[in-house]
Amino acid sequence: MKTNNNSDATFKYPISKPSLTDLERTNVIKAYDSTWISSSGEFITMFEKDFAKYNSVNYGIAVSNGTTALHLAMEALNIGRGDEVIVPDLTFAATINAVLHAGATPIIVDIDKNTWCISVDAIKNALSERTKAIIPVHLYGQTCDMDEIMAIAHHNNLYVIEDCAEAHGAKYKNKKVGSIGHVGCFSFFANKIITTGEGGMCLTNDTKLAEKLCILRDHGMSREQKYFHEEVGYNYRMTNIQAAIGVAQLQRIDEILEKRTQIDLLYRNYLENIDELFLQENLPEIEKVTWLFSVLVKEEYREKLMQELKVASIDSRPFFFPLSEMPIYKEYSTDVKNSKIISKMGLNLPTYLELDKENIIDITTTIKTIIDEIRCGI
Ligand SMILES: *Cc1c(COP(=O)(O)O)cnc(C)c1O
Repeated sequence: MKTNNNSDATFKYPISKPSLTDLERTNVIKAYDSTWISSSGEFITMFEKDFAKYNSVNYGIAVSNGTTALHLAMEALNIGRGDEVIVPDLTFAATINAVLHAGATPIIVDIDKNTWCISVDAIKNALSERTKAIIPVHLYGQTCDMDEIMAIAHHNNLYVIEDCAEAHGAKYKNKKVGSIGHVGCFSFFANKIITTGEGGMCLTNDTKLAEKLCILRDHGMSREQKYFHEEVGYNYRMTNIQAAIGVAQLQRIDEILEKRTQIDLLYRNYLENIDELFLQENLPEIEKVTWLFSVLVKEEYREKLMQELKVASIDSRPFFFPLSEMPIYKEYSTDVKNSKIISKMGLNLPTYLELDKENIIDITTTIKTIIDEIRCGI
């Protein structure tokens, strides 16, 4: 049997690390001492209310993770067999898995080369009479072109399910992501911007939809009549202990986002003007957030750079593989081009709150040295 020797823990600079303070600890102990350790309790309702309010949305439905948030949204919108759902080629696999789990057919489309998010033109080309929804993914803290996407959805009577797993707090034209489409889905995995360990949330302004999400999350059980099931539902609930962490994280979200922005700015500052590296431009009317700091590296340099960073005890991550390049998803792909290019060049660098200026200088100096060495063919 292959054992999982959690090697991430041995890096001097791991890729990510949750920021947990006394605030989270106090809340967890409170939840524990209350004995409300399952999915009822004061922290659940508090977390749902606070997170909905933070995003200026009427309802928050806390769930077990980001994948179940996406799947629950699909089910609550009655999307299934025979329906097509448009997804971007560059995303974490959970986006497309949720579509497949619902029995619908994903249609994979290309990304925009500037935002790295789903391409509006590619969406337009992929529309058919079976299209039922679009899942824009706000990738690596950047936001999709939501005005255009909502206009397409409106004209074609489609649902928009925002995948916000990597973009808590990001804004498109002053609106928080997750508040623009019909449902916004979030993940609170330990490496995301705020965390509950495992966890997720669906946001919506629609009262009926919110109710349906709640019912399906809890075995499809009638809210009036206990043990009377109106739908074939799921157990996708979050626990009170997880929500206790979430409430504390949410109180700190401004500080967390600000610190991440500072880290992003420092990386940008020290990685500027290197011919082999390309930084994403800040785009007008988008207030991006920093999930994992992202940089594009000349394709022939990336593998070697990652290897040498590892030797220097600095963890890094390549961008996701395009979905279209994996045998299990290939059949759902349309023509893609940008996603292949960006995927081969993208690199994420350590991004977590404890990193200070000296650490970033240390990491970026190492990067420069390695690139010089590769350039000189050493
Ligand atoms: C992390 C992530 C998810 C899934 O979240 P889990 O909580 O791990 O299930 C979905 N979509 C994207 C884009 C993600 O990055």
